Amino acid sequence: MDHLTPQNPTPTPDDRIVSSQPQLDDLREFSLRPKRLSDFVGQEKLKYNLNIFLDAARTRGESIEHILLYGPPGLGKTTLASIIASEMQVNIKISSGPAIERPGDLAAILTNLQPGDILFIDEIHRLNRSVEEVLYPAMEDFELDIVIGKGPSARSIRLDLPRFTLIGATTRAGNLSAPLRDRFGIIERLEFYNAEDLSSIISRSASLLKTSIDNASSFELGRRSRGTPRIANRILKRVRDWAQIKSDGRIDMAVVSDALDRLGIDELGLDDVDRKYLLAIIEKFSGGPVGLDTVAASISEDSVTIEDVYEPYLLQLGFLDRSPRGRIASASAYAHMRIPHPHSVRSSQPGLF
Ligand code: ADP
Repeated sequence: MDHLTPQNPTPTPDDRIVSSQPQLDDLREFSLRPKRLSDFVGQEKLKYNLNIFLDAARTRGESIEHILLYGPPGLGKTTLASIIASEMQVNIKISSGPAIERPGDLAAILTNLQPGDILFIDEIHRLNRSVEEVLYPAMEDFELDIVIGKGPSARSIRLDLPRFTLIGATTRAGNLSAPLRDRFGIIERLEFYNAEDLSSIISRSASLLKTSIDNASSFELGRRSRGTPRIANRILKRVRDWAQIKSDGRIDMAVVSDALDRLGIDELGLDDVDRKYLLAIIEKFSGGPVGLDTVAASISEDSVTIEDVYEPYLLQLGFLDRSPRGRIASASAYAHMRIPHPHSVRSSQPGLF
């Protein structure tokens, strides 16, 4: 989120409507973000655990342990961090891995924290090593080592920091160094949401946006939101525009199917780019295995974006397998793309082989 602010409206993340990356329009709708844990829909296991940790910390009058939240973008990591701050009635400072370039940047942030404050670092896997090393004693002993001066006269001094809680968020827990990961007392994974939960999120957002939507329509939008609340809210806003211009402002099934068809979002929430990606594996690389970089280059997409943004949902749907030799399109991907799977052709036409 560091690169996209209302002051810097350059849309660096991709602008697809089903992208789970934040877009400028999302930043204008902070009102949709739930503020209390009770308004945070789904993720029952995580909420249950968190409630216990919050209660225990409140009862002891202490700050909560450092928390690592991981999972695909748009599932509510930033939202949860703000909820934890409001449940603990403390301030939250928000930053991100790439924004904290030098150890001095982190030292400035840490020395400005008040006791109990929460420091949220998004994309924490992108912190550079020298910054990470400042974080270790800060997290463990609430101490900051800073070096004053240069060369032979340089000396290191140790400052006490207030007890704070670090909440780190990452889409790639595997990229976190072991010493950093080990310093988090609580590590929780966010899962994709089911259609019922997304449908509740959509109904709640529609009422905040003062838009009427029937149950069947919010369920249908939920089903087509790739398991991701950020996408659910974004699709809702586009369909609301559609209802306003093409109909009487109310969202019903006719408006939903018309709008989503025009937006190129299919019955599973896949868009043109997903289909192009699957089609490339199937048609250009005989279904795989094929290396990620090779497919990405063949459709002129960035491989990091494919891996972090597009693939998690395709894996969840079972459309893609990741083998040591590369990506493989599954039989259900062939079925979804309405292309006969080579194995099923072989078995249904034994005489040909
Ligand atoms: P992340 O930090 O994981 O990328 P965010 O916390 O920014 O995701 O969530 C994206 C948007 O989705 C938020 O603005 C919020 O409105 C909505 N959202 C996320 N999780 C939930 C939830 N469990 N219930 C309701 N809305 C949610």
